[in-house]
Amino acid sequence: MRRSQLFLPTLKETPAEAQIVSHRLMMRAGMVRQTSAGIYAWLPMGFRVLKKIEQIVREEQDRSGAQEVLMPTIQPADLWRQSGRYDDYGKEMLRIKDRHDRDMLFGPTNEEMITEIFKAYVKSYRDLPKNLYHIQWKFRDEVRPRFGVMRGREFLMKDAYSFDLDYPSSRHAYNKMFVAYLKTFARMGLKAIPMQADTGPIGGDLSHEFIILADTGESQVFCHKDYVDFDVSGQPIDFDDVAGVQKVVERWTSLYAATDEKHDTAAFEKIPAEKRVTARGIEVGHIFHFGTKYSEPLGAKVTGPNGDIVTVLMGSYGIGVSRLVGGLIEASHDEAGIIWPEAVSPWGVGVVNLKVGDGECDKVSGDLYAKLGNAGREPLYDDRDERAGSKLADMDLIGLPWQVIVGPRGLKSGVVEVKNRRTGEKQELSPEAALNRLTA
Ligand code: ATP
Ligand code: MG
Repeated sequence: MRRSQLFLPTLKETPAEAQIVSHRLMMRAGMVRQTSAGIYAWLPMGFRVLKKIEQIVREEQDRSGAQEVLMPTIQPADLWRQSGRYDDYGKEMLRIKDRHDRDMLFGPTNEEMITEIFKAYVKSYRDLPKNLYHIQWKFRDEVRPRFGVMRGREFLMKDAYSFDLDYPSSRHAYNKMFVAYLKTFARMGLKAIPMQADTGPIGGDLSHEFIILADTGESQVFCHKDYVDFDVSGQPIDFDDVAGVQKVVERWTSLYAATDEKHDTAAFEKIPAEKRVTARGIEVGHIFHFGTKYSEPLGAKVTGPNGDIVTVLMGSYGIGVSRLVGGLIEASHDEAGIIWPEAVSPWGVGVVNLKVGDGECDKVSGDLYAKLGNAGREPLYDDRDERAGSKLADMDLIGLPWQVIVGPRGLKSGVVEVKNRRTGEKQELSPEAALNRLTA
């Protein structure tokens, strides 16, 4: 992409309404535009990051055996009357009437709808287990939408739903998602710690929130310090290996980690004082096991192996896809701007031509741009005729992990500069060596 053609409305000034760094940087980098309170339009750069995150989430869901579907945003109220949540959900639910005066709503989550779909088709234990997920916009009329996309009213969520015949199998479904989440966040370069959590309006007996530690987080959390240094990447996992998956979950639940609602002061104080972490955190994922809470009222039953009728056991598993865009920036930035982890960066390499119009600079920059593109590095070429200083500041602000800086002075001695955005480290290399460095 050529910067001269790109719709990337960066701002010099910091917008007054943005209270936290991720919101400020998203506005300054022209990633989103607020269209009403807590509702955002995604501009090209923001949308590219959102799609990269979504794709990682998708791949890890698929790998764990979940299957993607797409349910609508608008749901009939009657479904929610069956589960009893139509009244319980309160003002957070956006209620709508259609032209026939039927009660509809903009879905804040999809437990009822997926249970109804499941029930319509699955009649036998032979069709179990199943885990179905979608990545779809949700609406929750939050009292205080704030912090940009971190607490929006309309937001993108991945939500998965598991269906099983008995507790051991349902617990394995929960464990698989637990491990898939560890992998998902690790791939994004994030350290998300699973913590015991309250189940809120979703309900159930077992629940973990995946939390990234950040001063600006809205949750108060408590955990053992060792979790902060735990390695999440780990070995490839066989999701059918029940004991193997269980072992990973056990490792990640062996130490104390809880959110405010589940905090147990006595248990926490048993940890040596220097190992106690009390911090703020951002909830990026939340998983629930709730048994028959929805399958019972909605009548999702199958014939069991002995001909008996069994109400299926369920869990649900959410990831805040759009919240992650802000969360990633909270976790990775400096005074100059955003620092994208490679896996979610909107473009792979920024090519900065310091002197547009200079024959040699244009030739070398254009050539690097073309070759980086051919190598699949998704380059962003700043080919605008602007001051060098402001182009460099802009490139730092948008935070691509690598920059190649092409200027007349360097070219005189046959070199360009390759800069690592995170470390700030710069290397002078010939254009060919730079290309090798960035495509290796
Ligand atoms: P919170 O406690 O932050 O209000 P929640 O517990 O109500 O979130 P869940 O029902 O667990 O949310 O939803 C699953 C995920 O969706 C959350 O872990 C979070 O990452 C994301 N999410 C929830 N509410 C919002 C929101 N208003 N804006 C952006 N993302 C959200
Ligand atoms: Mg939650």
